[in-house]
Amino acid sequence: MSEEKSLIKRVGELSPAERPGGKPLHRPLLLLWAVGQVWKRQTREHRWSTVRDELGKLLNDFAGVTTPRQAALYPFWALQTSGLWEVSGAEELSLTSERRRPTLAALDSADPLAGLPQQDYDALSREPALTAQVASILLVKFFNPLPAGLLEALGLNELMAGCVDTALHPQLGERFDHRTAIQNAYGGNGVMGITPLADGILTVYSDDKGPYTDARVPDTDWIAYTGDGLSGDQKLTHGNKNMRLYQQQQRALRYWHKPYGGRFSFESWAVIVQCRRRWGIGEDKLWRREYVWVLAPVPSPIKATWPHEVWDALTEDTGDIHDDSLDVIPNEIVDEALSKAERYRQLSEAAERTSARRQDRSKQATVERYLRSKAARDAVILRSGGRCENPTCLGHPDELTDAGAPLLQIDHVNDLARGGPDVPEFMIALCPNCHALKTHGRNRRGLTALLLETAQVLHSVFETSEQ
Ligand SMILES: [Zn+2]
Repeated sequence: MSEEKSLIKRVGELSPAERPGGKPLHRPLLLLWAVGQVWKRQTREHRWSTVRDELGKLLNDFAGVTTPRQAALYPFWALQTSGLWEVSGAEELSLTSERRRPTLAALDSADPLAGLPQQDYDALSREPALTAQVASILLVKFFNPLPAGLLEALGLNELMAGCVDTALHPQLGERFDHRTAIQNAYGGNGVMGITPLADGILTVYSDDKGPYTDARVPDTDWIAYTGDGLSGDQKLTHGNKNMRLYQQQQRALRYWHKPYGGRFSFESWAVIVQCRRRWGIGEDKLWRREYVWVLAPVPSPIKATWPHEVWDALTEDTGDIHDDSLDVIPNEIVDEALSKAERYRQLSEAAERTSARRQDRSKQATVERYLRSKAARDAVILRSGGRCENPTCLGHPDELTDAGAPLLQIDHVNDLARGGPDVPEFMIALCPNCHALKTHGRNRRGLTALLLETAQVLHSVFETSEQ
């Protein structure tokens, strides 16, 4: 691994544990300060007393730390474990009783020198673009939104002005033939669908060839992205756990897309605006519960660049996981405990709830309707028993489709576009012949009236059935 790539990886791995009230910013701030010193052409090493005073002020101004001298001690010592910082003569300093770090008095008295490792210092000195990239990673991860005055205080305003997002690599639109090529260029795992690159920023891959196709939600530019886990119920571990964290922290991830027969391209930054759970078919061809992460494209990872509608969506969503797998259960999932009528009522109620939001034009509601729309269709299929529901039908063809399903069209009795609600009592299952009669036949008005009445009668029979 090149020195530059190794540096990005170590910076990417810097992730102080989450604590109540947010992430501790001590180590990121020390690293940013050190990077600023390189940019200002300062020597590699600095006295503890200098770091204590300068970092202490930064911690006070930008991390809300009230005991800055003491607070500077922690990162000055701990950043060594990340391989990004070296303290000269560290072994001679007297450590605290836990033997984990020296006392403030010991540091003040020895006033040791410390700095970035030599090879990192040299690489950063040679390459301003690398300096900007390292600073960007830290700013996007730990100081987003960017606090006013931070870049000036770090001496990085000239280098970073207007380029906090574009200094990151890869850049939007970059293309690669396959995952291994991306991995060779930017690190990270070359197989998993949801995984960070070397810089620690989460990346999701979407391949039209499969195992699943992630869909653009109609009437929106949002993406319904299937979670991590090929077969069996998906769990909130691995990639899904990372997605949940990004959703909660409202952080942007990289979305890579490979069209069928095409190349992988870094198509967009995106933020998770909704998480749903639904039934889907795993790689083993069996039904299982899976997560759907709804991604809204954003221009950059910098929160200040996100459009209003994305903020509206983030505000509108509760952040909870919307579990459609409880009520929108496909007919293919056989639950012996539920009668046909009970299943019908369940699907019908799910459809009613979704339909109740049909006047809501928000994207959140559009996504919900799209992902839940199967319930109404499934209810009608169940009710029809696979046979045409037109009482004047001249005979439903017995031939099945390749998938073994009856030739059946689920139709909105009144065209959905003209305001017919997406619920089973206004929908009907028709054979191809009756569907053609309803659409094109001379008696289509009379047939529509009959079908509407029929749908409502069949619906109420199922709603009240004891079976
Ligand atoms: Zn028919």
